[in-house]
Amino acid sequence: MIKGLNRLSTLKSIMVNSENTKGLCVGCLSTSAFNGLCNFCQADLPVNRWHCHCCALPLAHSSDRHLCGDCLKSSPPFDRSLIPWRYQYPVDSMISRYKYNGQRKFARPLIAGFADYLESTFQDCSDSKPDTLIPSPMLPARRRERGFNQARDIAESLGLALNIPVGSDIVRRVCKVQAQRGLDREARLANMRGVFEVCKAVPERVAIVDDVVTTGATVRVLASVLREAGAQEIQVWALARTPG
Ligand SMILES: [Zn+2]
Ligand SMILES: [Zn+2]
Repeated sequence: MIKGLNRLSTLKSIMVNSENTKGLCVGCLSTSAFNGLCNFCQADLPVNRWHCHCCALPLAHSSDRHLCGDCLKSSPPFDRSLIPWRYQYPVDSMISRYKYNGQRKFARPLIAGFADYLESTFQDCSDSKPDTLIPSPMLPARRRERGFNQARDIAESLGLALNIPVGSDIVRRVCKVQAQRGLDREARLANMRGVFEVCKAVPERVAIVDDVVTTGATVRVLASVLREAGAQEIQVWALARTPG
């Protein structure tokens, strides 16, 4: 099964990355894969079933309030997060291979599953689709080093699947985000000043797209900047969320 993902032998790595493995499962090399994963490996993915309704932080059990302590204490500047998986094995390994080694075949099943999850979410509830997807921008030096911005790549795939335009040039990153946790309001504002620069008009309803949400500091800062620039409704879309 997918348990071999971390320890793929060189031979298996060569097989999984060769052009001849297009129909193979990236987890177990079974030939019955759809979008890069077989049914068994798909079922092994850690679903983010119980989570905070606002920031999608994984919760240990279902809760009536559906809000985590952080969101109760300080309401985030975004409205809702749609994050289908927990950042645990094997999703963490798959995202690492995609992000740091440029092996897109490991992201393909996650992005396809995410598109399905979003489609069914918008069918089942009153939330509306955003007007535009805004990939979390990367510092130019980091993008040159990595060769691509994974948030933009994910946003473009989701935009195609859901027929939503992607605004990659609406906002750019000027410097790194410092951790926001533990800072008071004034310090938070000082912290976010100058991190992002809005370059174009911001649509009313947007979704920030990223690969992983960890502390949530970056999306909080980016959402604040977008809200100040006129966004009325902000969603956060990511493949995975780290447990708190
Ligand atoms: Zn498999
Ligand atoms: Zn929360």
